[in-house]
Amino acid sequence: MKITILGNNSALPAYDRYPTCQIVSIDGTLIMVDCGEAAQVLLKKHGIGWRKIKYVFISHLHGDHYFGLPGFLNSMSLLGRTEPLFLYAPKELQSIIQSILDVANTTLSYPLNFVELAEHGGILADTAILNLQSFPVEHRIFCQGILITEKSKGRKLLPERCRYYEIPAAYYKQLKAGADYEKKDGTIVKNEWVTEQGKTDKRYAYCADTIFTDSFLKHINDADIIYHESTYLESDADRAASRFHSTAKQAAEIALKAKTDKLILGHYSSKYKSVIEFEEEARSVFPESYASKEGDEFEI
Ligand SMILES: [Zn+2]
Ligand SMILES: [Zn+2]
Repeated sequence: MKITILGNNSALPAYDRYPTCQIVSIDGTLIMVDCGEAAQVLLKKHGIGWRKIKYVFISHLHGDHYFGLPGFLNSMSLLGRTEPLFLYAPKELQSIIQSILDVANTTLSYPLNFVELAEHGGILADTAILNLQSFPVEHRIFCQGILITEKSKGRKLLPERCRYYEIPAAYYKQLKAGADYEKKDGTIVKNEWVTEQGKTDKRYAYCADTIFTDSFLKHINDADIIYHESTYLESDADRAASRFHSTAKQAAEIALKAKTDKLILGHYSSKYKSVIEFEEEARSVFPESYASKEGDEFEI
């Protein structure tokens, strides 16, 4: 799983930082997480092909998280996309997009499958390779985060050992799922003799825009990487609270509680020229904190 940071700022573009947009890649399938207004430009600049984007998640309807979406949807149509696109978002977005298409007398060239975010969150997509799940955070308006899971591929086969025990290839699927094999003479071949531990699930938790709270901790516990907004530094903690945002130090406290491996910071206020202080402040609480910059890649 690879997370690419495109937009990392809050509402106003400033100091070459643009509103929120991230791309998560799993086995060649791309998930767009929020779509700030520079999304198309940033996708192009960083060589990310829209064709592989299958899912788009919009956390909430503050403009810095979806003003790039109408242009993005329209461009894919102009370029002849035919593959379906799944859009997970607060319900009001469906009529907003429909109005934009209607007044332009436009019909998209591809199916846009709109899925409304449920009030208490829940599973958005579940396939053989991934699972997408939303969860409520606390912001000025309805807002949700997303937990993206790349599923474990089960036990890893040891081909030479399988051949040694003369296990037919038709049984390999059961071996990967952890089953033992029984030979015709009744001898049992233990699973651990012919397989080894495969990759475990990989989990990325995107906590969207939120006030400092641990109310959603149960959804992000033990995630490999957590993104938590840090609109302000701790010296502006009052302002953060009154606007339902968080500080870098507060983001680090959530990361610490969630026992994650790594914290990504972002959604900086345009009042700050440099973001280094965000990293320093967070690291004083949680050393594995990184102040995201445009183009940064994080791998799990
Ligand atoms: Zn925002
Ligand atoms: Zn917001």
